[in-house]
Formats: sequence, C-alpha cells, structure tokens
Amino acid sequence: MYNQDFPLIFEHSKPGRTSYSLPELDVPDIDLDAELGERYLREQPPELPEVSELDIVRHYTGLSNRNYGVDSGFYPLGSCTMKYNPKLNEDIARLDGFSHIHPDQPEKSVQGAMEMMYDLQTALREITGMAEVSLQSAAGAHGEWTALMMIRAFHEANGDFRRTKVIVPDSAHGTNPASATVAGFEAVTVKSNDKGLVDLEDLKRVVGEDTAALMLTNPNTLGLFETEIEEMAKIVHEAGGKLYYDGANLNAIMGYARPGDMGFDAVHLNLHKTFTGPHGGGGPGSGPVGVTEELKAFLPKPLLIKKDGIYTFDDDRPQSIGRIKPYYGNFGINLRAYTYIRTMGAEGLKKVSEYAVLNANYMMRKLESTYELPFKQHCKHEFVLSGKQQKKLGVRTLDIAKRLLDYGYHPPTIYFPLNVEEALMVEPTETESKETLDGFVETMLRIADEVIEEPELVQEAPHHTIVKRMDETTAARKPILKYESK
Ligand SMILES: *Cc1c(COP(=O)(O)O)cnc(C)c1O
Repeated sequence: MYNQDFPLIFEHSKPGRTSYSLPELDVPDIDLDAELGERYLREQPPELPEVSELDIVRHYTGLSNRNYGVDSGFYPLGSCTMKYNPKLNEDIARLDGFSHIHPDQPEKSVQGAMEMMYDLQTALREITGMAEVSLQSAAGAHGEWTALMMIRAFHEANGDFRRTKVIVPDSAHGTNPASATVAGFEAVTVKSNDKGLVDLEDLKRVVGEDTAALMLTNPNTLGLFETEIEEMAKIVHEAGGKLYYDGANLNAIMGYARPGDMGFDAVHLNLHKTFTGPHGGGGPGSGPVGVTEELKAFLPKPLLIKKDGIYTFDDDRPQSIGRIKPYYGNFGINLRAYTYIRTMGAEGLKKVSEYAVLNANYMMRKLESTYELPFKQHCKHEFVLSGKQQKKLGVRTLDIAKRLLDYGYHPPTIYFPLNVEEALMVEPTETESKETLDGFVETMLRIADEVIEEPELVQEAPHHTIVKRMDETTAARKPILKYESK
C-alpha cells in the first residue's frame, strides 16, 4: 500500500528510457556474450529500472525529504549521540589524496594516509589513557567483541580456561550481553542500586574464579557516573578478571577522565558517535579498540606501526586474535574523526564534554517536576525520565514519543534502559543551542498538559506525519520483507 503514494523506482520504469547518452561507437564492437560463453551468461536479463535522470533525481530527493536526520532537526536519541556532523569533515574526506587511493596500493605510495591513521591512534591513546589502539573494528559492537576475544586469548595464554562468564550491569546497552555471548561467554547480570549505579554487594556476589571480565559503561546508560569505579576495578582484578570499558559515549568525560586511569584494561570508542562520524541508517561506523600494555600482544593483526620513520602494517604478531575485518577499519569514518580531533584540539574536546553535560543537566532540571526523574543526582551527557505518572492517566511513553513527531522532533530513546519503567532517555549533545533545548523542553511540557487535558490527542498521535501510527504487532508478526510487484 505504501507504494501507492510513493512509487518504487521500478514503478517509474518505461522500456527503453535511459538516463545517459553515449557518443556513437568509434571502435570495433565485440560480442561480449560470445566472448564470455554460455556458462557465464544469465538466463534472463536483470530487471533494472529504465528511467530518466530526472526521474532518478526526483525519486531519491523525494525519499530523502521523507527522512529525518540531524541536519533536519533536534534528535535527542539517548545513547546514540546524534550530534552535528561538521561539513568540514566531509570536505577533507573528499580530498583526492584520500578518496582516490586504494587499500591494495604499496605502503610506500600511501604513507600520508597511514600517517593520518597512526596519528589518530596516537590521539585516541592519549584520550583513553591506553597503551595501544587499533582502528580495525568497524563499529561499537564489533569493538566490544574484538576486545572480549582479546581478553579470552589473554586468559587462555595464561593457561586459565575456567573464565567463562562476563558480568554486565542490568542498565547496560544491549550490545554488551550480545557481544559477550557471541564471543562465547555467558553474560551474567549485576544489579543496579537505588541510585542507578552498580550495586557493589551484588558485584561481589557474582564475581569469582569464572569471571573473564566486567563490561561497563561509565557514565552508564542512565547518564550517571559510576563513582565507585576504582573499588569495582579492585574487586574484579582481585578475582583475576579484566575490566572492559564501553566508550561509545565518551563525550561525557572526554578530556576530564580516562578509562585507562580508572583501571580499565580494554576500551572501545564509537568514532561515529563521540567523534562526529555521520551515523544512522546502517552507515559505516568505526569502533577502535584500546588496550593496556598487558593485552597489547593480542590486538588484531595487522597493527599499524611506525618503524624507522616509515608507517607499516605489522603482521608478525604471534599472539594476535587475528584479522577481524578486511583492510584497516573504515578509513573514511576514521578520517572524519581525525579531522574533528584536529579541529577541536585538546581544549576543544574538553569543552565538548562540558557542554554535553551542561545541556543534559539543564534540560533534566527543567523537566524533572513534570516527568518523574528516578535518579536525582546530576547527570552526565544524558538523562532518563519515567513516563509513569502519565501512564496512570492512560498515556504511554510510546504515545508521548509519537506526539513529539507532530511537533517536528525526533523522539528520545524509549523503554530503555530496561531498569526504568516507561523510560524516556534524552541526550541533547553539546552541539545544540539553548533555544533548541528550550524549544524541546516547552514541547515536552505542552505534551504533559495535553496528557491531562486531551489524552486522545496524544494516544492517537502522530496526526501530521506522512505515515501515521504503525501497526507494530503485525509488523513484528507478519513482516513483509520482500517487494512484490503488482
Ligand atoms: C551505540 C552504543 C553501542 C553500540 O555501538 P554500534 O556502533 O551501534 O555497534 C554500544 N554501547 C553503547 C553504550 C552505545 O551507546
């Protein structure tokens, strides 16, 4: 049905219509089919759309206009760090010297690109306080898995095969238990206390001889700083486990605190979040991994190093967990992050954290008397509200999120983290102006009034979007995953 109001590119197709015009052939024609032979020929030609250039432009411009991104408006999707992607990054990424090279070129012909990656590794080492960094992993979850594989290799290298469990807080990002499971561990939950922080008594209970690692986000996904991190590190280390830092959202503490100084052994960063890589819609990410001296030997190979003034990929790494991705990470996203770091400088990166935290606290205090705030302390880069009071009036958090669409906002993350009922997780980021923050706060307060005065308006939202309320049950139970032509 959706294709009635917005046809697919295939439905624009008219036999013989093209979007190119080539000059007449002035070299001998060859019969490619005959050259290739029957064996390589498909039985039927592929069904490609036959359309004009204008059809294509209108089709994709139309689609992009239906999308909502950071360039269209405020996008406070908690934990996703939907901050502005500076256009300067795009200019640099498009420079011929970067965009026209091939990863199979001889190392001596791409020393400049390798220098950029090496300098980025050096900057990330400094930012995280780790001994070595690899840019190979392609996204956050990939970085988590890479680091856990290294921790496994470390334990096994010590002849320690008992460590089958990875401890994950109940507030953790869903990728944490998933990565632990994919890496072959059993994910064990540690509870949060009434302050929203890891419960130390519960940690002592679950930690033991079978603990491979504790995975932790600090600040955690409630946006709260784990103040007892040093004590936690001690508990886990004394039991022989390692500490893994999920640094997807480092913009809360960057320049002020370093995972390496808190006692972490391994960390991943999301360059596509904290360091302004454009993300969403499944685009490429980058999740570099940093480790202490002790774990360095296990980093994926090859590792980019500098030897006698020459940049080279070191493949001679006998204890390495091996290659985890073709080539050396997502170059374009790494380049954008490098540009960002060089643009901001050390002082600039500190300011990023300051404003990310200031913006989040500003909004949290303006909203806390209208939406319940389960944990009262100051937050870091994000905060979590609860729509519990509104639910008592028959309006769910989902309805509030849908109503925000009517006002032109992307909603916050909802129903996550799991340890807050009717959760609304707001991350404003540092790149938004006070006016934008005020506009969103006012809208949230207005919706809270609507919940009291006209609940149906919120329950039936959105009213002004192209697509109205989705039938999520049918979408989940009977998904249509393949296009059927009429
Ligand atoms: C986004 C995020 C991840 C996962 O990163 P991806 O690049 O999406 O795989 C992991 N942990 C936290 C806390 C995150 O916010």
